[in-house]
Amino acid sequence: MTRRAKVEVSVLAVLAATIVILLLNLFEVDHYPPALDPDSVFQPLPSWFAPMLLHPCAVCELCPHRFETVECKIEVTITDRDGWYRLFWAGPETYVYADAALVGAALRNRTAEFSGGTWTIRGRYAPSLETEPHPCPAAPGDIELRYRLRRGDGFPGEGERILDPSGTLAVPRRWLWFRYPFPPDRVDEFWWELENPDSFAGGKATLCPCGKN
Ligand SMILES: [Zn+2]
Ligand SMILES: [Zn+2]
Ligand SMILES: [Zn+2]
Repeated sequence: MTRRAKVEVSVLAVLAATIVILLLNLFEVDHYPPALDPDSVFQPLPSWFAPMLLHPCAVCELCPHRFETVECKIEVTITDRDGWYRLFWAGPETYVYADAALVGAALRNRTAEFSGGTWTIRGRYAPSLETEPHPCPAAPGDIELRYRLRRGDGFPGEGERILDPSGTLAVPRRWLWFRYPFPPDRVDEFWWELENPDSFAGGKATLCPCGKN
């Protein structure tokens, strides 16, 4: 090959590579829903969560306790890892969501990666009746539930509910959040799993403070 021909071949190679990279960039479009405001700490409580708890008591008959939320926060992180060819927005980007539909929409991006999720529920059940001092059975007080989001091709089932030490409040060990189909042959399931079953409600039963023992 002459020197001139060699130069021509390398110029063509560079041009071809440039065209390939531009095409890859053209077909790689990110469509992510807007991410969550990082300061929002009051997302909805899970549907199974009882905002009001009743427990039997000799004097009040049914003693109502209302849940006072300190924090209810869902944070699911999706990382966008673009290919090596990405020209204009290099480096991974993270998006945080609190909603199953938005997580599903973000995962539709080819380069999206599920990086993990937590659902934290903190607060306390406070009695809503004021009575004369009387003996009262135990009731749950401070609650701190920490659920972690799992992803797999088979939800292992809810399992047995877990009781707090007072025996009044039962919470699920796991629950299914949503299913995400990858046509034609794959369906992923996303479920929440309790991370702190032994400590979500304090170590020992507390007497209900609606009446003093
Ligand atoms: Zn009572
Ligand atoms: Zn009570
Ligand atoms: Zn009571």
